[in-house]
Amino acid sequence: MSTQPDCIFCKIVAGELPASIVYQDAQMVVFRDIAPKAEVHLLAIPRKHIASLDDLAANDAELIAHMMLKLPELAREQGLTDGYRTIINTGAGGGQVVFHLHIHLLGGKRLPGF
Ligand code: 5GP
Ligand code: ZN
Repeated sequence: MSTQPDCIFCKIVAGELPASIVYQDAQMVVFRDIAPKAEVHLLAIPRKHIASLDDLAANDAELIAHMMLKLPELAREQGLTDGYRTIINTGAGGGQVVFHLHIHLLGGKRLPGF
């Protein structure tokens, strides 16, 4: 599994940095955001280091499909019966701060529109 030495999300995957993990399997890890922007704020990440959506390769298709298909399941488990929001920030201009691909899953009280 490819890891990046200075990547905090790789460290969470490796168990070197604590996180409130809500789900994990062979391909992905899901944990609570340390600074939640909604009642429920999860981050879903691939175990392998992919810096951003820009770095996703054609042979990651199965991985990203697996992650996307897991999100509705996680939302249901978190009690988000009325809906939820998924966000991927890409690049500095897109608001990406941690350069290990992650999908934000937010919900709880009705979220403000864009
Ligand atoms: P980005 O802006 O890159 O899309 O989002 C990065 C997210 O990671 C932010 O919402 C931030 O609160 C969260 N985050 C940053 N460092 C940590 C950490 O060490 N642990 C956890 N659980 N979340 C983090
Ligand atoms: Zn990483």
